[in-house]
Amino acid sequence: MLRIAVVGSGPSGVYTAQSLLDQRAAWPVPLAVDVLDRLPCPYGLVRYGVAPDHEKIKSLQNNLRQVLERPDVRFLGNVPVGEGGISARELRGLYHAVIYCVGAARDRRLGIPGEDLAGSCSATDFVSWYSAHPDAIGQGFPLGGRGAVVIGAGNVAVDVARVLARGVEELRATDIPQGPLDALAASAVTDVHMVARRGPSQAKCTTKELRELGTLPGADVVVRAEELAADPGYADPAGLSATARRNVAALRGWAEAPAGTAARRIHLRFFLRPVEILDDGRGAVRGVRFERTAPDASGGVTGTGELMDIDAGLVLRSVGYRGVPLPGLPFDPVGGTVPHAGGRVLRDGAASLGEYVAGWIKRGPTGVIGTNRPCAKETAGSVLADVPELARRQVAAEDPLSGLAAAGLTPVAWRGWLGIEAAETALGRTLSRGTVKIPDWAGLLTAARGA
Ligand code: NAP
Repeated sequence: MLRIAVVGSGPSGVYTAQSLLDQRAAWPVPLAVDVLDRLPCPYGLVRYGVAPDHEKIKSLQNNLRQVLERPDVRFLGNVPVGEGGISARELRGLYHAVIYCVGAARDRRLGIPGEDLAGSCSATDFVSWYSAHPDAIGQGFPLGGRGAVVIGAGNVAVDVARVLARGVEELRATDIPQGPLDALAASAVTDVHMVARRGPSQAKCTTKELRELGTLPGADVVVRAEELAADPGYADPAGLSATARRNVAALRGWAEAPAGTAARRIHLRFFLRPVEILDDGRGAVRGVRFERTAPDASGGVTGTGELMDIDAGLVLRSVGYRGVPLPGLPFDPVGGTVPHAGGRVLRDGAASLGEYVAGWIKRGPTGVIGTNRPCAKETAGSVLADVPELARRQVAAEDPLSGLAAAGLTPVAWRGWLGIEAAETALGRTLSRGTVKIPDWAGLLTAARGA
């Protein structure tokens, strides 16, 4: 029996487990896969990153579930690897192979003055809060001002801009936890400014997500024609990618439409680089100062020296995720990834037998959920090729559960997760809503233990 641990139960981890098992006919030995997660809940960013109003993407959980319910897979939640949990070295002693699919857990920073003022927050924290991540339970976001600025033009920026501008009645129909729902219901924000440092043809967001902004019943999208016109790709879209062409067309439609009368507005701004987050004199945000930029010949921008301020009581920087080092694993601080060759972890340039990576910690925080499939397949292929050597590795003879217990851990098994699901349905019933996520560690663990 070859024992494999997959660390992380998001799409990359689950697709890796699936890929290993789909190729099992090629395995010379029986295989058992444990999928470990720091949280008592599975699904990673599908549960804690996909916005609550994106039900269709969230339904991917059903596909991931089918893998985690297979008899040759065991879900073990509440198992931190690294800090506060079992070390990478100990884990290696329990399993023939360990595949790290731990994603990119932190946000990138801007490195500009004022970034630490109250009300200057990371979009990833905002996402965690409205997604009921148990580490975000204490977070609060100032929603008392009319303006909010979102810095960046990727899909996360679009998500947080949309959630800020969406009517609370629509959010009530989702599984958003009650605290954030109440806070958004009381929000005074009427103007959400999503601001990109480059041009519309370079926006990283995908067209479906961008167009969706125009479908919100209580919000208008405002685009300035002069900012579109500054983009060489606007006048001459022939050389653009298909996504860029479609994005530009959607933006053109909004720029040419008559002004709307909705209660809230989403302003899509371009060619503005943040230079300072402005202090209201009491340590809180009052707005953001931007420098207007102009396109250069190589797809980048240069500053023009012209400054302009946008008033806001909340600033969400949405400039990408970054991986964090996992104690005991090598780490490339520049890319925020673990060095690897075909998914095999490299230590001092040489493949380390029994250690692998897949997903964002392998290739960086890019791509949509489906991008993880080929990435997982490549890593699973490397594991499969290593089987003869892996089978010779000395690991503990007993079930890894004993090793986890010896490390002081009490895993939440699949039955525990089913208990959490049942408790979330019950919570929704008491609130006259559908399923409502439990947002705190104690609530999650109580529900899991009661199952
Ligand atoms: P992203 O796609 O990399 O976008 C980051 C944005 O931040 C870009 O607009 C970038 O501008 C900007 N930026 C970076 N550094 C900046 C700086 N110093 N000042 C100002 N702007 C800066 O990252 P993301 O939005 O976090 O998304 C991460 C991944 O998750 C992406 O692959 C995304 O597609 C995926 N995702 C998908 C969905 C979905 O499918 N619905 C939802 C959420 C996330 P430049 O282009 O100028 O660098």
